[in-house]
Amino acid sequence: MSDPEKRLTVMIDKLRDRGFRLTPQRIAVLKILAASAGHPSVERIYEQVKTTFPTTSLATIYKTIALLKELNEVLELGFSDDSNRYDGNRPYPHPHIVCMKCKEIIDPDIPLLSDFTEEVTQKTGYRILKHRLDFFGICPKCQDNGE
Ligand SMILES: [Zn+2]
Ligand SMILES: [Zn+2]
Repeated sequence: MSDPEKRLTVMIDKLRDRGFRLTPQRIAVLKILAASAGHPSVERIYEQVKTTFPTTSLATIYKTIALLKELNEVLELGFSDDSNRYDGNRPYPHPHIVCMKCKEIIDPDIPLLSDFTEEVTQKTGYRILKHRLDFFGICPKCQDNGE
C-alpha cells in the first residue's frame, strides 16, 4: 500500500494543474480515495463525506472520480452484479480479493504477478496493457461470524 498522505498530495497537484477547484468537499473525497480502505463505492464515499459536509452532492463525488479516472489516478473495478469500486491508493492494475459476504475488497500481495504477465506475453505474443485478477471468498472476520 502506498502512503495515503503522498497519494493525496499527488492527486491534489494533478487536479490543481488541470485548473480543478479544490473545495473542502472535494478534498474530503480525495482523502478517502487516497487511502481507499476496503475499496469504497461511490455510495460509500458519499455517505462518509456527508458526515462532515452534509450539503455534498452525489454529483461532486462522481465528477471528482471521473476526473481522477481521466488522469489515471484512480483504478475502477466494475462488477456485473454490484456497484463499481475504487482504488486511488494503487491506481494501476493489481490483483484483488473480494469477500462475498461483507463485500470488503483488499489487495493481496502477490509478487509473482509480474512474472505471470511476462509468461502471458511470451505464450500469446500479446503486448499486455492491463490485467484483471480477482479472487472471491469469505474474509476471516466473516468466517469468525459463522460463515
Ligand atoms: Zn467479509
Ligand atoms: Zn486495490
